[in-house]
Amino acid sequence: MIGKQIQKDVIVVGGGPAGMMLGLLLAKVGVQVIVLESHDNFDREYRGEVLQPRFIQLLNQLKLREYIEQLPHSKLKKGAFYHYDKKKGDIDFTSMIAEAPYALWIPQPILLQALYKKAKEYPTFDMLFHAPVKKLLEKDGTVTGVVVEQKNKELLEIQAKVVVGADGRFSTIRRLGGFELEYQHYPGDLIWFSVKRPSHWGEELRFKITEGHSYITLPKYPDLLQVGIALPRCEWKETLRQGIENFRQEIMHANKGFHEFAESLVDFKPFVPLQAKNHMVKTWAKNGCLLIGDAAHCSSPVGAIGVSLAVTTAVVAADVIWDALQKRDVSAKVLCRVQEIRSEEIEEIHQIQERMGNLFFTSSKFVKGIRPYIVSAAFKTPLFSMIQKKLFVMKKPVAINREFVFDK
Ligand SMILES: Cc1cc2nc3c(=O)[nH]c(=O)nc-3n(C[C@H](O)[C@H](O)[C@H](O)COP(=O)(O)OP(=O)(O)OC[C@H]3O[C@@H](n4cnc5c(N)ncnc54)[C@H](O)[C@@H]3O)c2cc1C
Repeated sequence: MIGKQIQKDVIVVGGGPAGMMLGLLLAKVGVQVIVLESHDNFDREYRGEVLQPRFIQLLNQLKLREYIEQLPHSKLKKGAFYHYDKKKGDIDFTSMIAEAPYALWIPQPILLQALYKKAKEYPTFDMLFHAPVKKLLEKDGTVTGVVVEQKNKELLEIQAKVVVGADGRFSTIRRLGGFELEYQHYPGDLIWFSVKRPSHWGEELRFKITEGHSYITLPKYPDLLQVGIALPRCEWKETLRQGIENFRQEIMHANKGFHEFAESLVDFKPFVPLQAKNHMVKTWAKNGCLLIGDAAHCSSPVGAIGVSLAVTTAVVAADVIWDALQKRDVSAKVLCRVQEIRSEEIEEIHQIQERMGNLFFTSSKFVKGIRPYIVSAAFKTPLFSMIQKKLFVMKKPVAINREFVFDK
């Protein structure tokens, strides 16, 4: 049974980076917006925490950089590719783009809390936690609202002119709205764990390839290393079946710095698998409804750019939705402007991720044998620096309406 009913201009489903940024920007220009988040709070481990230079470029445009850089963070300036212990090439964040000479590491709960705090300064902002959306409301082919199940199991109906699905890679809004995928690529899984950072490690991010698996190791704020092991598709299932002992041996041999962690293992609980999947939704909007962020265009972990891409789409969406509300036209055609602006760059990035994913998640002995040579060759030619720029740096600034800039 439906209890209370609420009316808003815009409902944003999902309080992740895309949803929180969109909620904040719309509230700033006086739109009555409500963000609905299914969890009780922002506390989650292993969410996007590396924010690439393209994210800093966007913060510069919005004049939010100073605010965000006041949060606890570390700066990543260097990275390197290794074949076993032999360095094959360097990644240098300091030389990619002068205005953003580093990547940021900010725990995602801290980032989201900061966006929430800022959004609450605006009277038209509203947010409900523990508010999973269960149903989309539709009238005459237009989405008109959602039904939420509250903590006490009572249903709440919220009506709005626009419903935005910012509810992540497994989006409920995508499913309820019958949105179709244009493509999906799933070469394998990245298995994450964290260990105490050895004192000699510094702030370097490392990729390591071997005849076995590939590794990515990131300095995690404040004093940890976050490690991802790239497993070809279906191998995680087999690893779980074989039991912890085999996996312990793998981790033991991967790096001396992981020994203490490997010895302490009794089960697979410390590991968090992430499907290294990317996908693109065919059409991001229907009348009264728009998908943004991972819900529309999920990126694989290659390059750690999911948050940057999701938030950029949210900024573009704020502009398109605000304009649509003023013109009283929230049709699919108008809302699809977001896709027209964003999809070309994202598709280009997905193609790079797909090629790199095939290299790093491969189960082929042949590919594993030749990949050190491919990596070396990429570093010796302009290819690698071109790939880095495409992944980490915004091609051109997104058009942002002055009203969304935080300079007053
Ligand atoms: C293990 C891991 C590591 C990653 N590392 C990085 C990284 O280092 N850098 C990077 O840039 N990206 C990284 N990513 C990707 C990044 O986290 C995502 O691309 C980014 O969070 C997408 O933002 P979003 O707001 O679109 O979706 P999400 O962050 O997924 O947020 C969606 C929100 O919607 C909520 N929700 C879901 N369903 C409902 C519902 N029915 N009703 C209400 N709320 C709902 C969810 O609880 C969630 O809070 C990582 C992802 C994972 C899983």
